[in-house]
Amino acid sequence: MSLQSLLSTKIVRAASIADAAFDAVVLVGSQESVKQFGAIQQVSAIAPAVDNFLKLHRGAFHSASLVQVDSSVVPSGRLILSGTGHVSRDYDDVRRYQAAARKGIELALSAGVKSPLLITLPNARFPNAELVAALGALTPVYTPLNVREEENKQKLQQLGLLAVGNSDTSARLEQFVEAYDASFTVCRDVGETGPERMAPPRVAEYIQNAFANGNIKVTVVDDQSVILKDFPLMAAVNRAANAVKEHQARLIRLEYTGEGETQDTFFVVGKGVTIDTGGCDLKTGGHMFGMCRDKYGSAVVGGFFKAIDVLKPKNIKAVGYMCMVRNSIGSRAYTCDEVITSRSGKRIHIYNTDAEGRLTMLDPLTLAKEEALKAKNPHLFTVATLTGHEVLSYGYYAAIMDNGPAKASGWARKVQEVGDEFGQPIEISRLHPEDFAFHQAECEQADLRQGNTKPSVATLRGHQTPAAFLQMASRIDEHGTDSAHPLKYSHIDMGGCEGDHPSVSFPNPLVTLVAGLVLPHV
Ligand SMILES: [Zn+2]
Repeated sequence: MSLQSLLSTKIVRAASIADAAFDAVVLVGSQESVKQFGAIQQVSAIAPAVDNFLKLHRGAFHSASLVQVDSSVVPSGRLILSGTGHVSRDYDDVRRYQAAARKGIELALSAGVKSPLLITLPNARFPNAELVAALGALTPVYTPLNVREEENKQKLQQLGLLAVGNSDTSARLEQFVEAYDASFTVCRDVGETGPERMAPPRVAEYIQNAFANGNIKVTVVDDQSVILKDFPLMAAVNRAANAVKEHQARLIRLEYTGEGETQDTFFVVGKGVTIDTGGCDLKTGGHMFGMCRDKYGSAVVGGFFKAIDVLKPKNIKAVGYMCMVRNSIGSRAYTCDEVITSRSGKRIHIYNTDAEGRLTMLDPLTLAKEEALKAKNPHLFTVATLTGHEVLSYGYYAAIMDNGPAKASGWARKVQEVGDEFGQPIEISRLHPEDFAFHQAECEQADLRQGNTKPSVATLRGHQTPAAFLQMASRIDEHGTDSAHPLKYSHIDMGGCEGDHPSVSFPNPLVTLVAGLVLPHV
C-alpha cells in the first residue's frame, strides 16, 4: 500500500491564510492567544475579524464557531474559530488542542467544507500543540476499513497545515503528521475491525500489503505445527480456533534496521487476540462485546512500525511480534487445570482461560529475549489490553511497569515526560515481591501458575502481577541488574486506552511510543 492510501486525507503545506486552495480556515487557539495575533505575521490579517466576533460571542474560545470573514482576508470567506478553553490551570494539558481541533474539523465537515486549512496558535507551555492539534483534527476524517473497501468515500479532499510556531515539531509538522496519520490508520484498521475481517490470517495479509515495498521486513509463521512446537502456550490459546482454517493463529514478525551503526534495539511484542470469548471460562452477561479490540496491542505494534517505515529513523533496530490468535470456545479448547510447558521450559498451570493474553505473548516474548541477548543495547516490551484491573486503576491511561534494568535506565520516567509533552499521558506502576510470589505454583506439577480463578478486577494488584509472571515465565527475571547479562524489559498494560468500542479510537500509547523511541532518531 502506498503512503497516500493509508492517509485519512491528503496533507499539504499551505502558503498563507490567503491560499485559495482551501475552502475554510480552522483556527485553534486559547483566549490568551488573542494577544499574539499582531505578533504572528501569518495570521495577523485575521485579527480584526476575530476581535469583532469576540464582541458578539464572549465564549468563542470555549467552543467552535463558524464566522463569516471578508474574502480579501480568507478567500473562502469562512473561518472556523475553535477554542481550547482553559490552558493555564495546573491540570490543563496539551490535549485541549487535540479536542479543539477535532471539534473544529467536525464543524467543518458538517458545514460541507472539503479542503480546510488548519492553523494552531502556539503556546509556550505546550511546544507540540500544533502537532497534537493536527492529530486531533484527523480523527473524524478516518474512514473505517470495511467502508473504504466497499466505497470510495473521501470525507475531505485535503487538509492544509500552516505552521506558525517555532518548535521542532512545528518545523517538521507535515512530515510528522503524515507519519502519525498512516500509523494511526494501520493501528485502527487492525485494532477496530471485526473478528472475521481481521481474523489472524487476514491480519497477516493486511500487514504484508501495508508494508509491501517499504523499509520493514515482514515474515509470517503460518505453519501450525511450528506454532505448536515453538510457541506452545500460544498454540494452547489457539487450540479451539485451530479447527477453523480461517481462524488459525499467525505470528507476524516485523523487522527494521536503520541507517548507520545500531545504538538501540527494540523488541515490541503485542497481544493480538482477534476476539476474546474467554474460552471455556466464558465471558457472559454481555462482556464479550468489544472484545475484537483485544488485538489492540498488536495493532499498536503495527502502527509503531508504520511510523518507522515512513520516518526511517537512523541508528536503531526494531523487531516486532504481532501474536494473532482467537480465543474461541469449542471441544478442543484449552481449559483450566492443564499444565503446559512453555518455550522457556517452565511448566505453566492454567487457572483461567480468560487470562489468555499473557499466554499468547509469552513464547514470542521468550524468542525476543533469546534474540535480545545477541542485540545491541536491547529493550524488550510487551504491549497489551491485558487487564480490567488496569482500567479500574487508571481509566483510559496505559500503565508501564519497568523491570530492574529498565528502571535503572530511567525509561518509564522519561517516557512519561514524553507522553505529557505529546498529549498522551501514561502512568507508571511498580512491581513488588508479592507480585512474583503470587505466580509461584501451588503444586509440584508446575513451576508457575498463570493466575488465579478470579477476574483481575477482583484480584489485589491484578494488573501488576502479570508483568511479574511474564518475566518469570520467559526467564527475563534471570537477567536482572544483579546478573551477568541484564536485559531491559517494560510491560505496558493498555487496559482500556484503546477507547470505547465501537467509536473511533485515538491510538494509545502509540503517539507516546513513537515520540519516545522513534522521533529522537529522525
Ligand atoms: Zn481474556
